[in-house]
Amino acid sequence: MDMDEYLGDFSPEELTRYLQATAEWIGDYFAKIEEQEVFPQIEPGDFTRQLPSKPPTKGEDMEEILADFARLIPPATTHWNHPNFHAWFANTGSAPGIVAETLSAALNNNAMVWRSGPASTEMELVVCDWLRQMLGLPDGLFGMIHDTASVAVIATLAAARHRATRGEVREKGLRGLPQLRVYASEEAHSSVERAAIVLGLGSKNVVKIAADREFRMIPRALEEAIAQDRKAGFVPMAVVATVGTTGTTSIDPVAQIAPLCKEGEVWLHVDAAYGGAMATVPQYRWVLDGCEHADSLVVNPHKWLFVPMDCSVLFCKNAEDLRRTFSLVPSYLETPEDKIARNLTDYGPAMGRRFRALKLWMVIRAYGSEGIAARVNYHLQLARELQDWIARAENWEQLAPAPMSTVLFRHHPRGLSDEAALERHNRSVLEEINRSGQAFLSHTIVRGSFALRLAIGNLRTQRSHLLATWRLIQEVASRTP
Ligand SMILES: *Cc1c(COP(=O)(O)O)cnc(C)c1O
Repeated sequence: MDMDEYLGDFSPEELTRYLQATAEWIGDYFAKIEEQEVFPQIEPGDFTRQLPSKPPTKGEDMEEILADFARLIPPATTHWNHPNFHAWFANTGSAPGIVAETLSAALNNNAMVWRSGPASTEMELVVCDWLRQMLGLPDGLFGMIHDTASVAVIATLAAARHRATRGEVREKGLRGLPQLRVYASEEAHSSVERAAIVLGLGSKNVVKIAADREFRMIPRALEEAIAQDRKAGFVPMAVVATVGTTGTTSIDPVAQIAPLCKEGEVWLHVDAAYGGAMATVPQYRWVLDGCEHADSLVVNPHKWLFVPMDCSVLFCKNAEDLRRTFSLVPSYLETPEDKIARNLTDYGPAMGRRFRALKLWMVIRAYGSEGIAARVNYHLQLARELQDWIARAENWEQLAPAPMSTVLFRHHPRGLSDEAALERHNRSVLEEINRSGQAFLSHTIVRGSFALRLAIGNLRTQRSHLLATWRLIQEVASRTP
């Protein structure tokens, strides 16, 4: 190749043209989102067969690439933005969030240290504090953004481990230390166990605490487990309480759990990845009662707060706990501002950090704290209405309380009484609904019973959509053997 031949990137004019075409495509996508099948008619491998197995050797025409995007990708995509998407925890790629993601890609900042991204570093601290206020959490919490709650819990348990071993683990590893234990309810998210695996604590050292009839951790059972472990020579390191469990959205009694952690002796982490959003509504602030005593708390704005994937905010009472755990400053990261600015790479496992704060900032500004609360509240009202419909319908039953916006229920036709038959029937109903492309739900097992699980969390879901989905569910169930 001729060394003088500069290849570079598209010209700014070309970039503008493709962005304009992209903007138009996105606008059109949302205008016609309801024409998409929520879950496409597709089998594993179908999509791979549409892609060449070798990379192109010569650059291809961008117009052609965009045309291929439009032709190939949407039919092989699960449309989380469809108003009838109700699986797992429904979320939203909101307009301000999409705009922010585009701009963030344009700036392509890496907020590892202040100098590598001043606005991005400082905005992260400011918007996390905005969110803190919106959730009614106490002053002075340090907040930063991770990609996911699963990574945030790894960061927080690493800090708890550092504190419990007085920093010994940092240099020597775990060998020779007493076994550290983590406690979480049997309903807690699997990321807690995964963090224990990653951190070398061992999954067996996550002690599962029994839950009550409403799926909430039983504080007495926690107290007994901690006391027993102490007697047996284990070191209780952390308790993970959940506000909005993944299966049933139950709420652990954090106010009763906190005193058992003895004010800092055992690290208290609150997993409010989904449920924290509810506290933006003033009348539901109580869901975070007791969380003022937590050492750390995670909320995912990418779940029920209308911020596109990925954005998970970790609050920590004492930022120093994180810094002591993670800070390593190689000479190439030393900057003149080290003493006067926060370098966010010092507070977590990642060095490179995307400008995620921008989308949280734009979403909060575009809707306002009241607008966000009103949208969350609308979802709560829809969930209540759905529960009424279920209660009034013949042969339908709700299988768990629904304190948030996720409802668990099943079809229970007369004469069908054994669990295995009910499971078979409801599995077929679920499969049939999802295959229709009209709506998309997931399932869970509630105390041995198979439940349809309908989560409401998408900004575009209106009452009319939910009613149509409920009619579809009933109609499918009535004709499914
Ligand atoms: C979704 C969820 C998680 C995991 O969140 P990611 O950001 O996907 O890692 C953890 N805990 C609870 C309670 C959740 O609902």
